[in-house]
Amino acid sequence: MKDYRVPTKGGIKLDDYDPNDVGEYEGGKQTAKDILQELNEELEALQELLYAEHKHKLLIVLQGMDTSGKDGTIRHVFEGVNPQGVKVASFKVPTPVELDHDYLWRVHQKTPAKGEIVIFNRSHYEDVLVVRVHNLVPKETWQKRYRHINEFERRLAEEGATILKFYLHINQDEQAQRFLERVEKPHKHWKFNPGDLEERKYWKDYQRAYEDALKRTSKTWAPWYVIPANHKWYRNLVVAAVIVESLKNLKMSYPADVEDLETYHKRLLEMTLSKA
Ligand code: ADP
Repeated sequence: MKDYRVPTKGGIKLDDYDPNDVGEYEGGKQTAKDILQELNEELEALQELLYAEHKHKLLIVLQGMDTSGKDGTIRHVFEGVNPQGVKVASFKVPTPVELDHDYLWRVHQKTPAKGEIVIFNRSHYEDVLVVRVHNLVPKETWQKRYRHINEFERRLAEEGATILKFYLHINQDEQAQRFLERVEKPHKHWKFNPGDLEERKYWKDYQRAYEDALKRTSKTWAPWYVIPANHKWYRNLVVAAVIVESLKNLKMSYPADVEDLETYHKRLLEMTLSKA
C-alpha cells in the first residue's frame, strides 16, 4: 500500500496529491472490494481484542470538503464491527453553551476511553478550517490553535490513545458530480443542502486552510493521511488498511485467564452433567 502519510516536516501542497489515485489497484475494483472485506474481518477481530484488553484507545479523525465521503467511509470501513466498542461523534455548528467554553471543551468529552474506538466525523479541526475561512474569530485567536491542538493530541497520545487523522481528498469536479447525484436521486435528496453550494465558492480558501492544518499538525503521535477519495472503493480500502495496520502494531493480547480455570471447568461440567 502506498504511504499517504503527511510528513511531519516541510510544507504540503494538496495539488501534489491526485484525488483520482488508485495506487496499484488500477482497474481492480473487484479485487479491492474483496480485500476490503478481509480488512473488515481483521478489524472486527482487532476491535474485539482492543475491547477485551481494555488498555489502548483509538481515535480516528475524519475531515474533508462537503461530499468527500465521511459518512460513507464510516459505514464501509466499520461494517461488521461490534457497535458496542465503537462510537461516532459528529461535530456540528457549536451550540451557545459550547461557544461559551473553549473550543476543545466539547471535543475532549468525546475522546475514547480504554478499549474504545471513537470516530470523529468532523472535529476540533473545524476550529482552524471553517472558523478561519469565515473569520469567525480573529486571526490571532485561530493562529494559536495549531499549537493547542498539537499539545492536546500529544496529551491524549501519552495517555494511551492512538490517533489517526484522515483528510478525504476529492476535487471540485467530483464534488459537483456528487451534489448532482443528491439532487437527481430521490433517496439522496435529504443530503442536499443548498448552503453547501455557497460553501463551494470558498474552495480555494478551504484548501489553503487544510494545507496549513495538515502541515502544522501532522505529528508522529497523530499523523495526517491524505486519502485519494474520488474513488470511494479506493478511499475505503486505504483507510481500512491504515487502521488495521496501526491496531496490529499495538501488539495487543487477551487479558490473562481467570486463575484456576480448570477447577471451574470441572465444576461446570458437573453442573451440566447433573442436569442431563
Ligand atoms: P455534515 O456536513 O458534517 O454531514 P452538517 O451538514 O450538519 O453535517 O454540517 C455541519 C456543519 O457544522 C459544517 O458546515 C461545519 O463546517 C460546521 N461546523 C462544525 N464545527 C464547527 C465549528 N467549530 N464552528 C463553526 N462551524 C462548525
